[in-house]
Amino acid sequence: MSSGTITSDAGRASESIASNASKLKFSGSDRFIRELRHRVDAYFEQTGRPRRDCPRMYFKTVTILAWFAAAYLLLLFVATSWWLIVPLAIVLGISIAAIGFNIQHDGGHRAYSERPWVNKLMALTLDLMGGSSYLWDWKHNTIHHTYTNIDGHDDDINLGFLGRLSPHQKHYWFHRLQGIYLWLLYGFLAIKWHLFEDFYHITTGRIGGQKIKRPRGKDLVIFIAGKVVFFSLAFGIPMLLHPWWAVLGVYALAAFVSGVVLSVVFQLAHCVEAADFPVPVISEVDGSQRIQTDWAVHQVQTTVDFSRRNRFLSWFLGGLNFQVEHHLFSKICHVNYPELSKVVEEVCREFGVRYAANKSFFSALASHYRWLTLMGQPVPAVAS
Ligand SMILES: [Zn+2]
Repeated sequence: MSSGTITSDAGRASESIASNASKLKFSGSDRFIRELRHRVDAYFEQTGRPRRDCPRMYFKTVTILAWFAAAYLLLLFVATSWWLIVPLAIVLGISIAAIGFNIQHDGGHRAYSERPWVNKLMALTLDLMGGSSYLWDWKHNTIHHTYTNIDGHDDDINLGFLGRLSPHQKHYWFHRLQGIYLWLLYGFLAIKWHLFEDFYHITTGRIGGQKIKRPRGKDLVIFIAGKVVFFSLAFGIPMLLHPWWAVLGVYALAAFVSGVVLSVVFQLAHCVEAADFPVPVISEVDGSQRIQTDWAVHQVQTTVDFSRRNRFLSWFLGGLNFQVEHHLFSKICHVNYPELSKVVEEVCREFGVRYAANKSFFSALASHYRWLTLMGQPVPAVAS
């Protein structure tokens, strides 16, 4: 593929917004991604393993949905004392994060199945959890997966004035304390998402710096139906059986826990010391913006793996501890990532592309804390 062409599936989908909104392009050749694809194809041919429709994934889906349903139904019909309600609300919050990591994320990326309707069905679990699969497709699939860690484009690194995640964002004095308070704030992100953000994006027709198409027809029906189902599950039905303050309390705790878990796991891939935050070069001729590497190298340089040998985390996090592999092969089911990581690491070594991974979950957490602290320091921005 020629220089300047975005080479991802997400990238192809986003060329329209790239051209009409930002004219942001990537440079370099496609040798690296072609070799990666060639080696990954060879891996699947040699092993005979499926890329999608993996039996393990279907079993995992049933397990996690049963976990969610059990926690929800116990809270609704069984638990009456606070010492049971509090742990159950926490368990419910963790199950919501697990649905996001595993089922919704693979479905939304069309990595779950060869059949589009199965992917769609799995992606809809996000609407069940209070989000919008339609908006997620724009925010995550199209924008985040193409413009990873590019300030002004990737909405995932945009916390507004509340936090400074990139060296190219504006510094405020209170960012000195963001290494402490942001962990708490992460908990409110799910609540903000449920009650405010989706409606805001639909109203403005924008996410971050990018224009989006507002949902119409079937997409709009699903958006509205999703909100009705979520608000019924979270508030309407429980309030028929329990006092309003108890329902709000359980909602707040479960949403807070899911927000912390979801946010922290995504931050560990992109907002740690080893991740890059590239700045596009702006052309004096036509004002277009260009990243100095090709898309695949950009993905590896802005993404960091962690706990690659931890089997429990690899199960629970839906392969999001292998985000380098996920960003390169987002349409392959995540149960394959541990094996693919060996292939990717080898190709990176051959091409001289730095492949970064934190050894453990705690070393990744510590790196995120140090990054937040560094970004909170009152020093001039690193880049121009
Ligand atoms: Zn993703």
